Amino acid sequence: MTGGRDPITLDVMIIGAGPSALMAADYLAHAGRRVVLMEGKASPARKFLMAGKSGLNLTMDEPLEAFLAAYGPSAAPLAPMIRAFGPEEVIRFTRDTLGQPIFTGSSRRVFPKAMKASPMLRAWLQRLGGHGVEIWHNFTWDGWGPDGAFHFSTAEGPREITATTTLLALGGASWPNLGGRGEWVEYLSARGVETVPFQPMNMGFHIKWSDHMRPHFGHPLKSLILRAGEKSVAGEIVITAKGIEGGGVYALSREMREGAMLSLDLCPDRSLEDVAARLEKGGRRKDSLSNILRKSLGIDGAKRAVLFEMCKSLPTEPKALAERIKALPIPHSGPFGLDRAISSSGGVAWSALDETLQLRALPNVYCIGEMVDWDAPTGGYLLTACFATGLWAARAAA
Ligand SMILES: Cc1cc2nc3c(=O)[nH]c(=O)nc-3n(C[C@H](O)[C@H](O)[C@H](O)COP(=O)(O)OP(=O)(O)OC[C@H]3O[C@@H](n4cnc5c(N)ncnc54)[C@H](O)[C@@H]3O)c2cc1C
Repeated sequence: MTGGRDPITLDVMIIGAGPSALMAADYLAHAGRRVVLMEGKASPARKFLMAGKSGLNLTMDEPLEAFLAAYGPSAAPLAPMIRAFGPEEVIRFTRDTLGQPIFTGSSRRVFPKAMKASPMLRAWLQRLGGHGVEIWHNFTWDGWGPDGAFHFSTAEGPREITATTTLLALGGASWPNLGGRGEWVEYLSARGVETVPFQPMNMGFHIKWSDHMRPHFGHPLKSLILRAGEKSVAGEIVITAKGIEGGGVYALSREMREGAMLSLDLCPDRSLEDVAARLEKGGRRKDSLSNILRKSLGIDGAKRAVLFEMCKSLPTEPKALAERIKALPIPHSGPFGLDRAISSSGGVAWSALDETLQLRALPNVYCIGEMVDWDAPTGGYLLTACFATGLWAARAAA
């Protein structure tokens, strides 16, 4: 970095060094632009590294139309970007450009073979360094200076920086200790940029369990169909001391957040009639209900505990009980907060951006990644859209 207190002038400045920024930097550096990434933390891509802790799900190997549908109301504005850099391109880029072997799991989720993010990040940073991309760490953007330059707090005091092209890649507002806290909304709003309030996405929901549930904390309920509103998914949930978490809940978190009741089909491989008939047959044998559930329907452990917990007085009539087993309502007392959500909804409104992701209010300033108001369930949709938006804006800016 250059010394002195004079304002610094750059060609391309990307603020934030998460996956969307790395993709934009990659394209712009290869297009011959001189790129500097400004990162508030002491090291880049902390959320990306955290994402790899439970298996870095890069994308989903599924047809493009099904893939796009996962973005719900944001599918339309994201469609051209995902069509240009969707699942196939993510796979090719990771495998062929970054040299990371990948595999597709049984649920069509795509992971690097290493599962974690660090080898991929190392390879990417090395490639970017080879093309002259610099990362200035501990540079926190905190608004604009009086003369209109971007103002940064750094370990060595404040700095003012201008650039021909600026990309904002500041991330969402979840897991604030990993980087983004969404404080930039204030700076952008003051410059006339329309924003949408943040909400947690891909999060758990609070349930006040009775003491009987304690032995089941940390245990999964597998092989379920979960329904909320119009949507249903096959998946699992995990019982925790605070409530419920896990892939199945995350997939329905948008609908549940908006008030739809979650219901579970505890026996998805059997019809209502079959479940009722099995309950009736067990009843004729005078078996205990726990035994009937276990022997005839494979419902025991945490699954049975949740059934008993949610129906304090279980119906005795087989058809009525079967109806509960096939559609067990799970009332909750609200979503977990942003600090524990995998991602966030909200941020820069689509209406604030033109079709190249440039801010209408601030020419030559683009917004990419999770800071834009789109959301998606887990399954690699988040990272794919971060890569796709980074590349899209970079192509336009180049
Ligand atoms: C636990 C967990 C698991 C996840 N698993 C997956 C997964 O398997 N698959 C998937 O697709 N997605 C996953 N995600 C989501 C994914 O990691 C994010 O969607 C993605 O990292 C967002 O990328 P981004 O570039 O938009 O922003 P970020 O990765 O959030 O990067 C933004 C960067 O900007 C910096 N920054 C913020 N404000 C400033 C400022 N004012 N000045 C300077 N720098 C600033 C931050 O320090 C940060 O480095 C997971 C997330 C979490 C938390």
